[in-house]
Amino acid sequence: MEKKELMERVEELNNLLHKYGEAYYVQDKPLVTDAIYDAYMQELLTIESEFPDLVYPDSPTQRVGGEILSGYGKVTHEFPMLSLSNAFNEEELRDFDRRVQALAGDKVSYVCELKIDGLAISLRYVDGKFVQGATRGDGTVGEDITANLKTIRTIPLQLKEPISIEVRGEAYMPKNAFVQLNENRDEAGEEPFANPRNAAAGSLRQLDPKIAASRNLAIFVYGIAGDGTEYGIDSHSDALDYLDRLHFATNQERQRCATIDEVIEYVEKWIEIRSDLDYEIDGIVIKVDLFEDQEQLGFTARSPRWATAFKFPAEEVVTKLIDIELSVGRTGVVTPTAILEPVLVDGSTVGRASLHNEDLIKEKDIRIGDTVVIRKAGDIIPEVVAPVIEERTDDEQPFEMPRNCPACDSELIRIEGEVAVRCVNPKCPAQMKEAIIHFVSRNAMNIEGIGERVAEQLYEANLVHDVSDLYILTKEQLVELERMGEKSVSNLLTAIENSKENSLEKVLFGLGIRHVGEKAARILAEEFGSLEALIKADTEKLISIHEIGEKVADSLITYFANEEVLEVLRKLESYGLNLLYKGLTRQDVPADSVFSGKTVVLTGKLSILTRGEAKSKIEALGGKVSGSVSKKTDLVIAGEDAGSKLARAEELEITVWNEAQLIEALDKKESAV
Ligand code: NAD
Repeated sequence: MEKKELMERVEELNNLLHKYGEAYYVQDKPLVTDAIYDAYMQELLTIESEFPDLVYPDSPTQRVGGEILSGYGKVTHEFPMLSLSNAFNEEELRDFDRRVQALAGDKVSYVCELKIDGLAISLRYVDGKFVQGATRGDGTVGEDITANLKTIRTIPLQLKEPISIEVRGEAYMPKNAFVQLNENRDEAGEEPFANPRNAAAGSLRQLDPKIAASRNLAIFVYGIAGDGTEYGIDSHSDALDYLDRLHFATNQERQRCATIDEVIEYVEKWIEIRSDLDYEIDGIVIKVDLFEDQEQLGFTARSPRWATAFKFPAEEVVTKLIDIELSVGRTGVVTPTAILEPVLVDGSTVGRASLHNEDLIKEKDIRIGDTVVIRKAGDIIPEVVAPVIEERTDDEQPFEMPRNCPACDSELIRIEGEVAVRCVNPKCPAQMKEAIIHFVSRNAMNIEGIGERVAEQLYEANLVHDVSDLYILTKEQLVELERMGEKSVSNLLTAIENSKENSLEKVLFGLGIRHVGEKAARILAEEFGSLEALIKADTEKLISIHEIGEKVADSLITYFANEEVLEVLRKLESYGLNLLYKGLTRQDVPADSVFSGKTVVLTGKLSILTRGEAKSKIEALGGKVSGSVSKKTDLVIAGEDAGSKLARAEELEITVWNEAQLIEALDKKESAV
């Protein structure tokens, strides 16, 4: 390429990377895939390394992250929060090793860690107390998101030791929380997040901490900011162990590697098994272990020379989009789904992919008959990335959203500000069927034996119009249904009968009230104790509950103001459904009990109390009894012959009591753990 052409290309790459970076870092809404971004970045790096005069001062290769959002306090990082250099294959890992050895000698050892796909955050503690949490921002100045970070349960608010320390880590959204969040967003007519990373970043960069609190975020802490030797440690692996002792959540999959061959082995292992994790990783971070060696290597403007990130290849495959099918969800949202020629992506066959909404189809210009690129969003949900325009034959059909509901033919509406199109007919059969399926689902009323097919039959045979009708089904009616033998009918009737005993939160979740997911249902049940009290609550009372926001409150008020809803609830009550919360309500739990908010593990043989008694007494005082000892355990009660759990508790330096101490505390209900 001529120099002039190169200059033009550099400018073009700068502009593209700035634009994509802004969408990704600032808006949390990427415009292109990471693979495309990384390819442009590599191209720019290659040109810049050959022609250093083409490195602009504001080149994306010289900067970290993006601008910071207004609306937050600014935090100037005492130690910059940098990015990482990348390696995309074995050869590049060996190059990294060669560079390291050239500067720090050939005795260097490494620590390999999973590269958690979330967002970098910094946590500052003074005298053991969590005082400030911030995003990376542009590396020098980040956003103050302390209030949001406080909602993450895995961030300790008080350390075991009264030290002052700043730690760095990755806040992330577990895969199941991401899938659930996007399902809820689809249902609520909101735009889905592209991947768990954007979902985590979008959740933490919210002005209302209740939103972050509702998003089930977690964190892995992966280092100490600044000079670790201050804490008497001299290597990264010791720093991680020290963080463990301070009760930070660190990732336990890390491994110390003496050579680059061991590093490569570790990387290869994780390429194979990464999808087994319940959180998303996008690579492996390799860090030089000894601080002394790290110091020798130093930093570039953008990243430490003593670390690199191996990026996993994202699998993108090409297939045909045969059709676009429409389905009507429980809340009436009409969702288009791509029907694909089945294809293998990251180990599983994909035949369908949600297209989310009409705007997205138009934006990507996806047409029926197109050859399309498919991948798994955040490794989990199949998605159509883009059509392959070059493969077009002119026979492709642009998609038009119908004006009428595909299930009941009533006119569809689009609520202002929403991307979704909705059927608002309350009697729409598709919505009713979905409502029944949701009501009986495992996490709601858990009535086994009613799947999609049975729900459809029940509705079509005019037996069930709303969920209360389930409770008046008879044996005679059910045996008439297709493929329903006597045995399955009797099992189904027993399951329906048993479900009457469910606690209130199951019913509340099962009703499918907009924005009331499992967690909100539990909080409401704990707070009000009975459906009756909840119905009586006004907006003010509802939003006074820490975790309940205006959106949920509004939705509840509208829901319970509906006469038809109240009629269904009255019927449920008259059929004998339990509408009370079976656990302890928030009023019942003494806030200052020794056990409140603590995770307790019982092990060994207790001689005075039974296990069950001990468990319920601890729970009655606000504690949680867990089966296994981990860093999250606050207290272990060790009876006679306690074995491996006791050993693990000692290893993790967790407080251990004997049965007599437990009984004393249960009697006293005070003194700190
Ligand atoms: P990076 O994600 O490649 O690596 C640095 C980050 O890794 C750190 O800031 C930290 O947050 C994280 N990390 C996770 N686990 C870690 C661990 N165990 N130890 C240390 N760090 C760990 O760099 P970046 O600057 O945050 O982002 C660049 C990447 O973001 C690009 O490679 C690209 O894939 C993606 N990106 C995509 C777009 C897009 O439009 N799709 C735009 C910009 C950036």
